[in-house]
Amino acid sequence: MLAIALSMDGAARDAAALELVMTFDESVRYVDAYGVDRTHELPPIVEAAKSIWEDIIEDEQTLNISYGWRDLPSGIYGAFAGAITFDTHVAAGRPRSWFIDPTPFDHSEFDFSTGQRLLNDAGFDPTWVAGYAPETLEIGYVGRPTAADQPVDLLTVALHEIGHWLGVNRFSAYDINPQFVGGRLMTLSGDGGHLPIDAALMSAAVGSYRKLPSAADVFAAASNSLWTRIDLPRKEFLGRNGAASMWTDATEWAGGQVPGRRDSAYLRHGGQVRLAPQFTEWQQVADLIVRDGTELLIESNGQLKVLSDPSATNSHGSVDINQGAKLRLRGDRDQRPVLQAESLQISGGSQLELEGGVFAIGRRLAIDASFAARHSVQATSVISGYGTARVGSEFVSGGLIEARSSAAPQLLEFLADASLTEWRFLTHVVDGSQAGQVVASQGDVRFTGGLTASSAGRLLAEHGRSISFATAELHNDGEVIIRDAGSFIFASHIANTGAIRLRNEGRVLTGRFHNSGVLEGSGQVLFSESFANEGVVRAVPAATLTLAAAGRRALWDLDGGNRLSMWTAATGGRLRLVAPAAVDVQFAPLQGSIRIADRAAVELLMPLQFDLQLASSGHIAIQGPAASLAAPLATLRLGTDAAPSDAEPAQLVVDRGLCEVESIIVGSHLEQGGAGVLQLDGGVVAALGRLEIRSTGAVRGAGEVRADVINAGMIELAPAGGPLRIGGSYEQRDDGVLAVRFARGASRPPLEIVGAARLGGELHVTFDSWPVVGQSYRLLDFASLQGGFRRIVIQEKVGVQFLPAAGVLVITAVAPEPNGAASAAVGFAALVVRRRRPRTVATLRKQAQTHPRDEVERIALRVAGEGSTTRPACVKYAGI
Ligand SMILES: [Zn+2]
Repeated sequence: MLAIALSMDGAARDAAALELVMTFDESVRYVDAYGVDRTHELPPIVEAAKSIWEDIIEDEQTLNISYGWRDLPSGIYGAFAGAITFDTHVAAGRPRSWFIDPTPFDHSEFDFSTGQRLLNDAGFDPTWVAGYAPETLEIGYVGRPTAADQPVDLLTVALHEIGHWLGVNRFSAYDINPQFVGGRLMTLSGDGGHLPIDAALMSAAVGSYRKLPSAADVFAAASNSLWTRIDLPRKEFLGRNGAASMWTDATEWAGGQVPGRRDSAYLRHGGQVRLAPQFTEWQQVADLIVRDGTELLIESNGQLKVLSDPSATNSHGSVDINQGAKLRLRGDRDQRPVLQAESLQISGGSQLELEGGVFAIGRRLAIDASFAARHSVQATSVISGYGTARVGSEFVSGGLIEARSSAAPQLLEFLADASLTEWRFLTHVVDGSQAGQVVASQGDVRFTGGLTASSAGRLLAEHGRSISFATAELHNDGEVIIRDAGSFIFASHIANTGAIRLRNEGRVLTGRFHNSGVLEGSGQVLFSESFANEGVVRAVPAATLTLAAAGRRALWDLDGGNRLSMWTAATGGRLRLVAPAAVDVQFAPLQGSIRIADRAAVELLMPLQFDLQLASSGHIAIQGPAASLAAPLATLRLGTDAAPSDAEPAQLVVDRGLCEVESIIVGSHLEQGGAGVLQLDGGVVAALGRLEIRSTGAVRGAGEVRADVINAGMIELAPAGGPLRIGGSYEQRDDGVLAVRFARGASRPPLEIVGAARLGGELHVTFDSWPVVGQSYRLLDFASLQGGFRRIVIQEKVGVQFLPAAGVLVITAVAPEPNGAASAAVGFAALVVRRRRPRTVATLRKQAQTHPRDEVERIALRVAGEGSTTRPACVKYAGI
């Protein structure tokens, strides 16, 4: 059956049954305005026109005529009167200009993109037809010239004159053969040998455009000449049988033939067209247009190819589904319907619905992709269902792609051919809601192959379903939502500049994850190679966001070098960074910030001991009584050994929360090392090992350190807010400083040491209120004490003595109430600012950010006097 159908198809086209024998009469010459003899450029044009008509009319007949040039009356371009002639002169001595197309079968000098005119387009005149008048009857096919000032097209005039010869030559009406219009009765008006319709080839009008024979022209010629077999290049489906209309029913098509491989097929009558396998395996057309609410249903084993044909006019192999139209592929696993095309575009609220079908697009698949060129989109277009789509070189979607099935969850899969580089998802808004989406809700959506995917739209996976991009990298600038145990799977790399939101156990699986947007929510991100955050990672309230390394080596870059990066856990939220024992874990230094809200937790659960290093400006804030940072195997280092000279200190602020690590190092031993600050505002720092304060490090405030403490830097005790409690031992080395500001009436010592104390270095003292002689201040409690301060530095003009056994400081001398610098008395320290080591101006500036304002000024003063022999000496201090 297949062979018969194909051979009939071939015979109808290849051997033109109508034979037009046209003899060139070269007795009249045509010399153009430039003096060029173009007489012999006429035959190729006439041969092309003849061939176009022969392709359309298939009745067996041979007709003879001669043609040539002639000087026709004024205003006449061509004539049919026994012979066909073409005008040579506008007026005596003034040659006529013609557009003589050197390639008359190629219409590329003309734009036919909107060239099809239908009966009911604007300008419809009810006197054109009587009886049945299908709205979509083609009455013209007109190409506008792409060049300016193009003269009249010689091919159009040749087509027109041959049209007269073939039958459009009546003065009265044409009764159209009913088999051309679905068996109905229809009459087309005549108009002095022409059609009254301006767009028609056979109207009396000519211009610089090109007209090809339209259905109306062909109907008129064939009806007048009693021809019955016509093959229109653009075939309109008439829909005479309503819902039972079949694609393969010839009587359904204008002209009475099923479209073939050189034809464009138009489905726009508003009803349904079914394509089921009957006598042929494949239906093939050059272009397919489905629009205006019409539905094409390709059923089990039904197969349609839409491929461009080089010998067809303007053929593209494209499927255009537009204006609320629908294309459905319906069939089970063994009897899959198939659609194959070079390009497919869906727009204007149209749908492609797959029920187990397959469609293969050789070049471009586009869904609502041209919205930007229009002012607005009325409705979202959709590809939905389950089945397989193969895509050639280009994929772009601004519409909705949704896996959908009524029974068990099924896969909607898009397979990239080798030449596809990018899956591209656009976004736009229709009626206030987002139109550019991929949704995996009732089934999975998978994109296989392709180098990258870029999304500005929304990707949504939920209810245990997944969206996956096998082999592609994703650049997400839009929104990804994974919720209710949905998953999002990547083979290689996610670069997120938009938002990825996990809700209720959503999961992301990837090789590398680079976040410079927002990653937030509750669920899990599983990566095999690296995780870098330059943006915001946030656990939402009362939920856990887990980032888990799964490969053999995992690189964590908590801030990607970006100071604006942020890790936050909202109240009750938990951020968990984990790696199983087999993973070799590395952390890059933190320069951004980690912010942990009250009742929130950040946990770094790693298999082996590791360094968690805060570089300059790195900042961890633990905010609230139930906030915590737990990294039980981490050595937390505040400040790196190398830092820029103007660097800000690295800071850990524990504001009533808990920080639990293996050990802590604050600051650096090195002169050029970065500063580190541990600020306790009522918080707790716990370490199994010790807390070591190095020379560029400082611990400040009040709270608890559950560790042995070694101070070779500085501890600044808070004037108010309670003591600093050290849960282990305390050792102050010779270059260590303990700074205290005594408040009047404080009952507890500002420093409580549970274990042994070993003192050295300096004690810096200031007072809230002016002290009196004999007054004593408790400085510290301890279990046992060794050593003492090497030096005591006091800003006020008082003398003191430290009584180590009691941990008490006693005032031994006091100057009168200060009333200006002049009152400074010999024997008292007027102004002492300790210099622990030579400083550069840059390091002093750095200090300026961490010292009270008055002290900063004194430091500056001190620098100004550096090198001077007249600087005031530290003339008086009382020490042990
Ligand atoms: Zn005419």
